[in-house]
Amino acid sequence: MDVDDAYDVMADATDVMDDARALATEAVHAGRDDLARQGLHAPPIDLSTTYPSYDSRAEAARIDAFAANGATLEGPPVYGRLGNPTVARFETALARLEGTESAVAFASGMAALSAVLLVRNAMGLRHVVAVRPLYGCSDHLLTAGLLGTEVTWVDPGGIADALRPDTGLVMVESPANPTLAELDLRAIAHACGTVALLADNTFATPVLQRPAGQGVRLVLHSATKYLGGHGDVMAGVVACDEEFARRLRQVRFATGGVLHPLAGYLLLRGLATLPVRVRAASANAAELARRLAADPRVTRVHYPRLGGAMIAFEVFGDPHQVISGVRLITPAVSLGSVDTLIQHPASISHRIVDAEDRRMSGVSDRLLRLSVGLEDVEDLWRDLERALGPGRGSGPARRTASGRPNRSVSTEG
Ligand SMILES: *Cc1c(COP(=O)(O)O)cnc(C)c1O
Repeated sequence: MDVDDAYDVMADATDVMDDARALATEAVHAGRDDLARQGLHAPPIDLSTTYPSYDSRAEAARIDAFAANGATLEGPPVYGRLGNPTVARFETALARLEGTESAVAFASGMAALSAVLLVRNAMGLRHVVAVRPLYGCSDHLLTAGLLGTEVTWVDPGGIADALRPDTGLVMVESPANPTLAELDLRAIAHACGTVALLADNTFATPVLQRPAGQGVRLVLHSATKYLGGHGDVMAGVVACDEEFARRLRQVRFATGGVLHPLAGYLLLRGLATLPVRVRAASANAAELARRLAADPRVTRVHYPRLGGAMIAFEVFGDPHQVISGVRLITPAVSLGSVDTLIQHPASISHRIVDAEDRRMSGVSDRLLRLSVGLEDVEDLWRDLERALGPGRGSGPARRTASGRPNRSVSTEG
């Protein structure tokens, strides 16, 4: 056996091993497998916008190949909008974590969703079936038809009946932003038949849920949130099969919503600690959810069966007072950072959704959304407790607006 053959056998053996690697191992190693052989430890950041070549015939052939099928180019990317090696490392790693063939990264979560809709539009499939609530701007993009799509909003049970010959996409979020409502993704995938199902997995992350294993074709992330994890990078990504990924790359090339290589580097770095961060923040969140549910100033707590680091809760008093009362917790939109953030969805993250639609989907004006971080849980509780303001007195007769006792943690969102 010559050296090249030996190398191939080694590579094959590595592939077999890779398939069995646990999530925590993938988080640290995926997208970096070639580094040690190159004598590198940290992944290189490639900031090139263009890639020199003295052979323009060969470049022409590679450009033709990309234009024909959207496959990743062999060799240098030619131009930054066609691809970037640092961003490709993040894509490889995220695909491994989500258990998909491929992943395609974009400049933001909304750029990623837009690319999916454009792929479908280009195929004449302009109709979208979607379940509320969705992240406010996703709702807005569909409702306003800004990209020429038409949306039918349904309950999860109504998906199959809403499908039409021109339906190109079914879109859901679970746990949903901001109510944390959970859906049975497997049952929904079944109801979709051959229509592509997109699940926004931003809240759960692949640490808690891998939708592709439940029949979801397109797994969307606002990577701005948990994947980056430190509130300093804006990005989006779609994890999916290679066939859809090729169309997404073609749209990305033509429309330009590319991710910056520095952002790609930060995301790869963020993925390494994703399992540790999500588990630690989830433990904090579970404890805070328990304490909030027992607090007389809180009428309802939404915390997913799945777990996670997001909590939504409704207060008897003025939710704006709670926002203005926090000192340690950051009063800001967004989520998934190392520090704890609180915001009022009806004023901020879901402001752009029509007020009636918002309320109908369970986003009450008294709802607050808490993204729990990595601080000490006692410090967080002290801050939250103070921000909740003077109590209403505690008694066993307290009820929620809907007449339910408020001591239990609602899990159905
Ligand atoms: C933030 C968010 C988005 C949008 O992502 P951006 O990176 O802000 O464009 C989409 N879906 C969910 C669930 C989000 O929380």
